[in-house]
Amino acid sequence: MRVLLLNPPGERIYIRDYFCSKTTKSNYLFHPIDLVVLSGTLASRHEVVVLDCMAERLDPARAEARIDAFAPDAIVSLVGSVSWREDRTFLARQAALGRRVAALGDVLQEDSDRRLEQEPWLEAALHVFSNDDVLHWLEGRLERVSEATVRPPGGRPQRVRARPRQKGVYRVPRPRHELFPERGYRFSFARQRRFATLLSDYGCPFQCSFCVIGTLGFQLRPIPDVLEEVDHLRTRGIRELFFQDQTFGVAHARGLELCRALAERGDLSFTCFTRPDTADDELFEALVRAGCHTVMMGVESADAAILERYRKVYTPGAVRQGFARARRHGLRTVGTFVLGLPEETADSLRATLDLALELELDFMSLNLAVPRFGTPFRRQALELGLARRDDLIMDQGGAEAFLPTRTLARDQVLELKREMIRRFYLRPSYLARRLGSTRSLWELGAQAREGLALLRRNV
Ligand code: SF4
Repeated sequence: MRVLLLNPPGERIYIRDYFCSKTTKSNYLFHPIDLVVLSGTLASRHEVVVLDCMAERLDPARAEARIDAFAPDAIVSLVGSVSWREDRTFLARQAALGRRVAALGDVLQEDSDRRLEQEPWLEAALHVFSNDDVLHWLEGRLERVSEATVRPPGGRPQRVRARPRQKGVYRVPRPRHELFPERGYRFSFARQRRFATLLSDYGCPFQCSFCVIGTLGFQLRPIPDVLEEVDHLRTRGIRELFFQDQTFGVAHARGLELCRALAERGDLSFTCFTRPDTADDELFEALVRAGCHTVMMGVESADAAILERYRKVYTPGAVRQGFARARRHGLRTVGTFVLGLPEETADSLRATLDLALELELDFMSLNLAVPRFGTPFRRQALELGLARRDDLIMDQGGAEAFLPTRTLARDQVLELKREMIRRFYLRPSYLARRLGSTRSLWELGAQAREGLALLRRNV
């Protein structure tokens, strides 16, 4: 079959992957990891084309022309709560042309059978992208689907959940990076223009209650499969990587083994997420040897009670130690934060900014709390009346809807966030450090563009 993997067009730059949609906070746009993984699975049996309208900045008319030229039998598309109105309009038009449509994204993670009833153009919702469900749906073997919402011929939509949570090992055929556009992707921390986004594990073993990834289970990919993908990228001249694993090295011995194998290549340069409490000196040392230059780690909040309530399973003290360890190993650090949880106050936000400054972060990434579908936090927000069940639009980037707190209105949260960004990034000492740490003219230009885009959104 002819299958199109689609990241649909939109008015803004949307990031819809990994069941966590948002607007870009500055200018970055990395490869949508769901489509990267599905490209291998689908291309093993079908003719596949990738159309990433975000990377190519295609408007709906040009996107439709490109789709018509390929004339797919089926479309597997990302959708997002951040762009749901636009996505459903665009995809319904494709279905009206006789194309089968399956989609995946945060907005379909909850009440998906009801959502399919409301959206007759949508034939299936995929809830996992690390298995073969997409093939089973495409080839009409619905009895083999393990976790998806499907519409049996002549029947009502039904959510299939053969296993409660994914665990163990998963295998996927080598993702077909070569199908994705060469240009249009930008990643704030990359040290080279050409980079690839990849996964060596799926989901997360932790269950922070505001995060959807913790609801996906946790699976590891065999190291030889990861290396096959990395080596294929190297044959294409790509040596800059973004591992989108959410807690790189959390399976400690495997993390060290993977790092050793990457270090043997001797030519890699990469960024990954890890946790400040689980990444020890041994892992940081192995990461540096493997070519890692930047680690992204959750700080979330300076308030120990907030960390405990949302099941981060670490304290601000452990966060301080983790970031200090990473710095000792010469790694650049990115602290990620979640602002505007119901207990948030103006004082707790100020304390969080003080912590960000104390940690000497190289970059600070601020996310606004949103009641992500399928998370315990969503249930709490519904109970507190902070969110409504039928509000499908949300954006942790802050350009679209997010939540008020118990004491702060939405515009106060947004203004305090903007103030934090200005106070963090406009320090002369910070700007001097940034300037001194860039290694090439390309990197300097890329960081200047990112910085300006960030400030434009926050002045
Ligand atoms: S550790 Fe990170 S990815 Fe895992 S559940 Fe917590 S916030 Fe989500």
